[in-house]
Amino acid sequence: RAYNFNAGPAAIPLEVLEQAQAQFIDYEGAGMALMEMSHRSATYEKVNQEAQDLLRELMNIPDNYKILFLQGGASTQFAMIPMNFLSEGKAGAYIDTGAWAGKAIKEAKVIGEAVVAASTKEDSYMRTPKASEIVVPENAAYVHLTSNETIGGVQYKTFPEFANAPLIADMSSDILSRPIDVSKFGMIYAGAQKNLGPSGVTVVIVREDLIAESPKTIPAMLRYDTHAKANSLYNTPPSFAVYMVGLVLKWIKGKGGLAALEQYNLEKTALIYNVIDESNGFYVGCANQEDRSTMNITFRIKDKDEELEKKFIKESEAAGFVGLKGHRDVGGLRASTYNAVPLESCAALAQFMKEFQQRNS
Ligand code: PLP
Repeated sequence: RAYNFNAGPAAIPLEVLEQAQAQFIDYEGAGMALMEMSHRSATYEKVNQEAQDLLRELMNIPDNYKILFLQGGASTQFAMIPMNFLSEGKAGAYIDTGAWAGKAIKEAKVIGEAVVAASTKEDSYMRTPKASEIVVPENAAYVHLTSNETIGGVQYKTFPEFANAPLIADMSSDILSRPIDVSKFGMIYAGAQKNLGPSGVTVVIVREDLIAESPKTIPAMLRYDTHAKANSLYNTPPSFAVYMVGLVLKWIKGKGGLAALEQYNLEKTALIYNVIDESNGFYVGCANQEDRSTMNITFRIKDKDEELEKKFIKESEAAGFVGLKGHRDVGGLRASTYNAVPLESCAALAQFMKEFQQRNS
């Protein structure tokens, strides 16, 4: 298997793929594949319920939160959030930490009033804001943040708290990478294709009182209450993707849960960050040290030498590494080290980086 450092869709644990392969054509002796079955069957209802139950267990999600499996990616959430929560006179407060926060803000502005409560743009989005920098307007319906900026490689280590508005977090690129206190959030959402499984399903964890009734003017598919009342079976769900998420969750449980995964992720990323920090300036980490992501390691080669970066990518590909090119908007290099990326891949990359430096300095 390749050393897969893709940013998303991203690596899926080999054990999970093997398990899915074993059940691919004949799911539990049904004489058909899961994806051929009715989503109203008892078999699929079990898949749907088990995935929810496991997520609740692993993330310690309180009973007053609904877990929804939706479609349309995290990008659809950028629109559904303001549609569902911005009633007359209310504004969405957004913390702007980079590309993904920016997209959420842009969509909210299509729907209603979106206020930037804090921005780290002046620091090239290389850090998260301090709590004291965040100014939430009185009419805020919610405060939205991006827990991990996938492109910039910047991740909150602790989350701000607000007395007068629920916190909504886009956790697309770091959900399940560490324990978090769900009760501090009004809503958490994530596209599946990084830490949860294949693309095609979006997980929403939302406090029940916030979605008791969505505004009547919203089409059924875009209302949270539609999906909550139907237990994510209002229309045909992405059944195979939900099944895969269930397998990934079982794999996480087998690894010892989120506290164990957090340690593993720290160990993995330390291998690479250490090479950067000990390179005497040959490699330069993009994010501020204290906000460095454990999921997306962004770095440059000294003086932003694009020729040398191109050479790095080319040689890394020849050596079996995939996905090390930085996002097209920012350039540079990026190694995405999601849960399913094994320590061995990170060790191999660290070694490759050291050798590349030796050959080129
Ligand atoms: N938010 C973050 C932090 C992301 O990394 C991504 C995708 O990479 C998205 C949102 C958009 O997700 P989707 O492609 O599922 O719409």
